[in-house]
Amino acid sequence: MGGIFGVCMEGECVTDLFFGTDYHSHLGTRRGGMAVFDGKRYNRAIHNIENSPFRTKFEDDLYEMKGHMGIGCISDDRPQPIVLNTGLGTIAVVTVGRINNKAALTKELIEDRGAYFTEMSDGDINDTELVASLICSCGSVPEGIKHAQDKIEGSMTMLVSADGGIYAARDRYGRTPLLIGKKQDGVNGYCASLESFAYINLGYRTHYALGPGEVVFITPDSMTVVAEARKQLKMCTFLWLYYGFTASDYEGVNVEEMRNRCGRSMAEQDIENKTTVDADYVAGIPDSGTPHAIGYANRSGIPFARPLLKYTSTWPRSFTPKDQSKRNLIARMKLTPADALIKDKKLLLIDDSIVRGTQLRGMMDMLLSYGAKELHGRISCPPLLYNCKYLNFTRSSKESENIARQAIMKLEGTDTVTDEQISEYTEFGSAKYLNMVEDIRIKLNFNTLCYHSLDGMLGCVGIDKCKLCTYCWTGRE
Ligand code: SF4
Repeated sequence: MGGIFGVCMEGECVTDLFFGTDYHSHLGTRRGGMAVFDGKRYNRAIHNIENSPFRTKFEDDLYEMKGHMGIGCISDDRPQPIVLNTGLGTIAVVTVGRINNKAALTKELIEDRGAYFTEMSDGDINDTELVASLICSCGSVPEGIKHAQDKIEGSMTMLVSADGGIYAARDRYGRTPLLIGKKQDGVNGYCASLESFAYINLGYRTHYALGPGEVVFITPDSMTVVAEARKQLKMCTFLWLYYGFTASDYEGVNVEEMRNRCGRSMAEQDIENKTTVDADYVAGIPDSGTPHAIGYANRSGIPFARPLLKYTSTWPRSFTPKDQSKRNLIARMKLTPADALIKDKKLLLIDDSIVRGTQLRGMMDMLLSYGAKELHGRISCPPLLYNCKYLNFTRSSKESENIARQAIMKLEGTDTVTDEQISEYTEFGSAKYLNMVEDIRIKLNFNTLCYHSLDGMLGCVGIDKCKLCTYCWTGRE
């Protein structure tokens, strides 16, 4: 997916930009970038962060860059920020999202406006340069941002440094959050951030949360709304469930609290459906399952424990070699077993979600090899059936590789399944749904397996359900 952060303040902004951008590192693994305006020109740095953290790669830039205004990003694909000299002045742009009509937009820009593109990402036109080109096809930056929001199919949240400040624009349906922080303690300054926790330790407090499609402009001493929020919100539910950082708030709902509620709700679902188990411990699949497991343990009365512990000292980020067997080994090496909490124990394991299930199956095999007596699985969301088409969340695996799709294909006896066939398996508790879950249970080696219902999960967010995106579970927009 990726994360973005921008600062506009009195005095040097680079330290705030460096740490604020770094606090988005959980949202992407491939590239980091910063562009800082020193009053005359932009100084830009982009580094590969696949095998070492943002902080290490940008340490030299922290001391070399100077300026009062800058934007930064963590990116899963395209190199950013893009800096362009345009008819609207020199602008710098960072984006988060996905363009589904890229070919049509590119063709239109080249044929109708004579545009050309310089930055390529893996042989493809860079999405952020495409956004910059759409912006520059209009008479002003705010007009250009609105034009880009209207033309792009998919989702695009962006920061545009121009006109002596930073424009912060949330995507049309608000699938990703965007907040404005105000610097405290007598210093004039504002920041724009995807994650709300990212600026707190830097001395900012939340000043404003943008609505869907809203555009604001920040300078060191002001924030103004440039384009009003649109009506329809479709915030990404998966950010609360797994992808976002637990200290953040989206739409006023804290992520850690939502995850605790998911665990509690699954414990209640077990009571209602008579699927409770007599386990010795409740444990989260490290680390993302932990807050869900705390909620389950608190509600069920089963003690919380950590039988699998991440060896975090030298595994600060994902190291993903191309070779699948090495990837599996690395997944195993990161987790260390606490024997006393595993041997002869009945464990109830909570995970936020299952995509292909390969790593989860590896963990179950590992726990059984260490003497676990029973393994029960509880999953905080319904079976994932569709790859995200808005934020590139699941771009590393094919939709047909999702464990739930694999189960449906097996049960239907086909290599492909239609949306109609899939919809018959999404009704919680129906015979087809239970057959699908049973197939997954056997594949993952659980004694029992239950998924959270869609309504149960959405209820844990606690805002109007029609304001939440559920495409990856339902295939409905
Ligand atoms: S499809 Fe899923 S991951 Fe993508 S925006 Fe919607 S809820 Fe989020």
